[in-house]
Amino acid sequence: MKGFRLLGVPVRLHFTFLLLLIFLLVTVFGSHQSGGNYALFLLGLFASVLLHEMAHALVASRFGVRTKEIVMFPIGGLSRMERALHPTEELVVSLAGPFMNLMIAAGLLGYLYSSQQPMPRSLSDLLHPTELGALPLLAGGNLLLALFNLLPAFPMDGGRALRAILGYVRPEEEATRIAAWMGRMLAISMGLYGLFAQNFLLVFFAFFIYLGAAQEGAAALGRTLTHGIPVRAAMITEFHTLGHGDTVRDAANLLLSTSQQDFPVLHGDQVVGLLGRNLLLKALASEGPDAYVAGVMDRDFLQLEPGMDLSEVLPLMAQAGRCALVMDGSKLTGLLTTDNLSEFLLLRRFGMEPVV
Ligand SMILES: [Zn+2]
Repeated sequence: MKGFRLLGVPVRLHFTFLLLLIFLLVTVFGSHQSGGNYALFLLGLFASVLLHEMAHALVASRFGVRTKEIVMFPIGGLSRMERALHPTEELVVSLAGPFMNLMIAAGLLGYLYSSQQPMPRSLSDLLHPTELGALPLLAGGNLLLALFNLLPAFPMDGGRALRAILGYVRPEEEATRIAAWMGRMLAISMGLYGLFAQNFLLVFFAFFIYLGAAQEGAAALGRTLTHGIPVRAAMITEFHTLGHGDTVRDAANLLLSTSQQDFPVLHGDQVVGLLGRNLLLKALASEGPDAYVAGVMDRDFLQLEPGMDLSEVLPLMAQAGRCALVMDGSKLTGLLTTDNLSEFLLLRRFGMEPVV
């Protein structure tokens, strides 16, 4: 979903965020609580999560790492950095978020105390929003946010910190696996407890933690397995190309007679475009088999250099689609597809050393 910019960082709302809003609305209307206080509390909580993410972004920028975007999920935000962080950077950046929530809670409690207003006595006060104003609730909410995010499990910040700390004494891949395993275990126990206690908000959170742990684990494992390896070690070096004078029929014949699905289109030595399977089928349906590939190919394809680090290419591939061309200057040297990339990751997992 579309979002807004905060200090130059684009903020996006994940569509599952709607689920949380609906859930909360139902909760509010289903109870006899004062809607105004509760709405104020929710707004403050949303701002607190944003501040939490901005703390990550600010600390990361101190290390010279730009934050590409912040995505707001029901269980919190997620900052996407432009590159993977080193253990020490990751430790400091991940702790900055919960630290921000602790500061907000301390600030609010300090204000309430000095102005002699009612204070939350326990975390269970959170479940009775009418008894206190919005500020004490917000203080409690921020404390909860800090504690929750410090749980040593993926995808929480504590999981990242744990991975960074483990990374000093164990191989990075193992550290990642442990943090992701902790995340799944946490999600499962939380989900079971939620079902048992009939607390469905807990089950809802557990579901997202499980997804996050699996996703984060896979992404981190991908980074670990590709870090420091150049693109040329994983690219396809034997492939067919099309000439710019070839027709869609020629391309369809190549699609059938080879196992290739994406074809670079050349004009002499010069790469002028890329024709993928889907584009080819679309052209066949709309233009017919006698149309020239030059008229239907994609001219705006992803280009990589053979020396680029594969771990930096992974997010690019995830955005750009299934095939990228590897170019040494203006010379085409290989193809990198999502299929052969996952093949490469699989081989790496089973211990194959890359040929560089
Ligand atoms: Zn965080």
